[in-house]
Amino acid sequence: AYAGHGGGGFGFVNSGGKVPLGLKRKGLRIVVTGGAGFVGSHLVDRLIRRGDSVIVVDNFFTGRKENVMHHFGNPRFELIRHDVVEPLLLEVDQIYHLACPASPVHYKFNPVKTIKTNVVGTLNMLGLAKRVGARFLLTSTSEVYGDPLQHPQVETYWGNVNPIGVRSCYDEGKRTAETLTMDYHRGAEVEVRIARIFNTYGPRMCIDDGRVVSNFVAQALRKEPLTVYGDGKQTRSFQYVSDLVEGLIRLMEGEHVGPFNLGNPGEFTMLELAQVVQETIDPNAKIEFRPNTEDDPHKRKPDISKAKDLLGWEPKVALRKGLPLMVSDFRERIFGDHKEDGA
Ligand code: NAD
Ligand code: UDP
Ligand code: UDP
Repeated sequence: AYAGHGGGGFGFVNSGGKVPLGLKRKGLRIVVTGGAGFVGSHLVDRLIRRGDSVIVVDNFFTGRKENVMHHFGNPRFELIRHDVVEPLLLEVDQIYHLACPASPVHYKFNPVKTIKTNVVGTLNMLGLAKRVGARFLLTSTSEVYGDPLQHPQVETYWGNVNPIGVRSCYDEGKRTAETLTMDYHRGAEVEVRIARIFNTYGPRMCIDDGRVVSNFVAQALRKEPLTVYGDGKQTRSFQYVSDLVEGLIRLMEGEHVGPFNLGNPGEFTMLELAQVVQETIDPNAKIEFRPNTEDDPHKRKPDISKAKDLLGWEPKVALRKGLPLMVSDFRERIFGDHKEDGA
């Protein structure tokens, strides 16, 4: 059976997703929480394309129907407006648990709600996984490393997180979500997978979500100055969304629990990022310095050796290749050319 105990799975079952040669692969039934969001909607596209049945569970806090509307009318696609903080009964083979705002502006908006989503929401989805014997994948974050004292960050590093700061609702929420995931794995034999995702960008990001890539791209297109926070020397590593989706699917289908860092090791200061945005959109775009936010991590770069070795995964899209793909989506959405879609 697909699941780790109780014979699990619901009739769409494959042995670990591997199908003997010559047999057509049967579709799985898969829940994607947060599937109307940025990453979730790209994941849904891939799962639908490979023939699976997908149930998106989303409360539309930061997600949008427009991100998944192109699947409406497909009998293998369902969309449920639901808050994961409330229990949910479904029969499925796999759960990709993404529901949680990812942009600092969004997760700080209602911090208590962010914690509830991470803790109670993850508990509910693990309870669901346990009841039906589904495999569960948590999308954790590089923020579990906090303001890291090790560079680059390896999965064995325990992190440097402020438990009482303005980012704690997210960092500590995700750390607790990882703890819950491992405790359901050890205690209830739920098959689990943990991804620690580093900064990801691409089409369908919320235009005004305050994240640095979406801010710079929207600002350059609107002929506004690029807002660099602090001295702009802090670093991040930016991963294109299709690379992340490939990593998430490999992790779910593979044999290893993780945690796995999923990110692009190319490291940029915010000033360097601003320069790439200038080169891509408008060489005359101005830069404006603003005070930085509290507890901002100084540097971040994934060590992805583990994912390379055990999942055979590494990112393929460099920042200078991925950025233009996002720019055309933003251009269409900001200036209203053609479609809303962004695919
Ligand atoms: P997003 O904000 O675009 O998507 C999150 C989705 O979850 C949205 O559709 C939102 O409406 C939904 N949601 C939020 N709270 C919910 C709740 N209580 N019940 C049901 N649905 C809820 O963000 P994203 O960038 O697509 O991130 C997806 C996941 O990946 C998140 O768990 C995030 O923490 C993780 N992640 C993302 C990044 C990144 O750079 N994008 C980095 C690290 C981790
Ligand atoms: N849960 C859920 N859907 C299910 C099974 C459980 O939402 O199909 C929720 C359930 O309401 C509970 C949580 O998941 O709040 C944890 O469930 P579990 O069975 O592990 O714990 P218990 O209900 O025994 O506290
Ligand atoms: N940042 C910036 N200008 C902006 C938005 C963000 O310089 O308009 C900086 C921010 O201070 C941080 C980095 O960009 O150092 C990444 O911020 P983001 O909110 O995108 O993600 P984080 O990695 O902090 O979660």
